Order: sequence, then structure tokens, then C-alpha cells
Amino acid sequence: MNKLTTLGSAKPTILVVEDEVPLLTLLRYNLEKQGFRVEEAVDGNEALARVAEGRPDVVLLDWMLPTLSGIEVCRQLRRRPATRDLPIIMVTARTEDQDAVRALDIGADDYVAKPFAMDALLARIRAVLRRAGTVAQKGQVSFFDLMMDQDAHRVMRNGRMLHLGPTEYRMLEFLMTHPGRVFSREQLLDAIWGRDIHVEPRTVDVHIRRLRKAINGPGEADVVRTVRSAGYALDRPEA
Ligand code: CA
Repeated sequence: MNKLTTLGSAKPTILVVEDEVPLLTLLRYNLEKQGFRVEEAVDGNEALARVAEGRPDVVLLDWMLPTLSGIEVCRQLRRRPATRDLPIIMVTARTEDQDAVRALDIGADDYVAKPFAMDALLARIRAVLRRAGTVAQKGQVSFFDLMMDQDAHRVMRNGRMLHLGPTEYRMLEFLMTHPGRVFSREQLLDAIWGRDIHVEPRTVDVHIRRLRKAINGPGEADVVRTVRSAGYALDRPEA
């Protein structure tokens, strides 16, 4: 079954913002083949106008654009209540990890670096759609083979009760409610410890290590992905 059909009968719409026309054409071809409806914009101002006309399900947003940069478009979309939670994937020609983190800092849900493999891009798009479309039962969050009962403060993996320290619990709760998304150490610090508390970014690594130890039983796949120089994400293990 096509994964997209679970999201509803309508085809998900992707707004592709890209000034390189050959790439735009290639993206349209591949995305339509995968069952998406594709809208196009070739510069930043047009992107904002398109979103105002009709909210897409995902925006694939190039970083370097005429009139208004992708970063600025993302910032503006995040500032508006109507588009604050609109899924945005930044596409960047830059390879520095700092730029990737910057994209996340200004509110992008994810990013891909050019040149990208179409399969990888499609996986990212599906992941943000899944996240956006997930209406979790209140008090219960599940991801892969993990199940968290937020009222009882209990976490199970494969039916086995996990024993987590309070920080690991909060970290896992945060990651489970934002699966697939890469967070920098600083973002995790802000989310878990709060902005006012000064904690060394390295502390995050320590808690991630403890979290892994607590949740990954013998023979179980690691669901915590380390993204070198960028941070961590909760991801389905690769087969
Ligand atoms: Ca460009």
C-alpha cells in the first residue's frame, strides 16, 4: 500500500521553491510520480504568495533564492500564526553542518544538502508528513517499538518496562514527540533544561549515552541517531 494514502484521500501538496529550473522540473517529475501534487515557486516572494493562496502540506525550500532567501522565507512563515507549524524542509547547497543547524534554529523541520538522492529526499518528506499528520492519543506516544505513557510516566519497549532517569525520560519524551527531526545539542538543552539554565552542551552527550543504554536491549536496534556535528534524532533503524 502506498504510504501516502494513509494521510487521507487528497494528495499531499508540496510547494517546491527552487530557482534552478532543471532541478525544479526533476523534482516535479519525481514527486508527482510518488503521488504528490506539486506547486512551484521560483523565488522567495513567490513562495510566500503561494503559501498565502493555499497552504501546502510541505514546503521544500531552497536556501539560495532570488528576492528573498530561503532562510528569510522560513523565518517569515514561522512568525505567522497560520504557518507556524507548516512543515518546512530546507534544501541547501552548503555542506557545513553549522548551516544545517542554522536552518533548524530558524525553524525548519529538516534539511537536505545538495546534491541529494531522490530516495533520501522522499524519505524526509514522508517523515515530516507523518509527523504533521500524527494525532497522538492523549497521554500516549509511540514510536517504532517504543511506547510512552505520559500520565503514568512509563516507557515500554517491545513490551518490556524501561527504567529511565528523569532527564533521560524527558529527553526521550521530547524526541518521541518530534520523531525524525535532528536537534542540535543546544536545542535539546533549551527543550529539556530550559533556556535559563546553563548546561554544557557535552552534558547532552552523556544523557544520550545513558538513554541509549536504557532503551536498547540486547539485539535491539538503536533508535537514536547521531548526526555528526549536528546533533541527535530519533529515527527508525535502517533495515
Ligand atoms: Ca538556488
